[in-house]
Amino acid sequence: MTGQPQADCLFCKIVAGEVPATVVRETETTVAFRDINPQAPTHVLVIPKAHHPDAASLAAAEPRVLADVLAEAGRVAEDEKIDRTGYRVVFNTGAGAGQTVFHAHAHVLGGRGLNWPPG
Ligand code: IMP
Repeated sequence: MTGQPQADCLFCKIVAGEVPATVVRETETTVAFRDINPQAPTHVLVIPKAHHPDAASLAAAEPRVLADVLAEAGRVAEDEKIDRTGYRVVFNTGAGAGQTVFHAHAHVLGGRGLNWPPG
């Protein structure tokens, strides 16, 4: 059920502390941690603590928490000092777009030149 922890969800396990992660920020509703396979000098994932399979599901169910995720993405960018040079916030949605973990997450990428359009 959406919103509730899922036993087979990797990011729910990170929220619960059952899988280790390099956490850089945490709020009442969100956790931000370093991606295990970074695609840029800064590559941090910001997730809602509640389980929602993707960003659109989160927006529909808990729009304020999606706003929290985006605000935290901005704070990560400030902490990492990529807010001035530019950074990208990405929600891959669906397997065809490269989503591999079906717990909503924002990728925060920066610290190198970022091409447009992305691949
Ligand atoms: P997606 O492909 O958009 O779903 O992004 C999932 C991201 O989670 C990928 O960039 C993975 O490298 C990352 N990832 C997978 N497992 C872990 C982990 O245990 N810790 C941190 N990041 C992870």
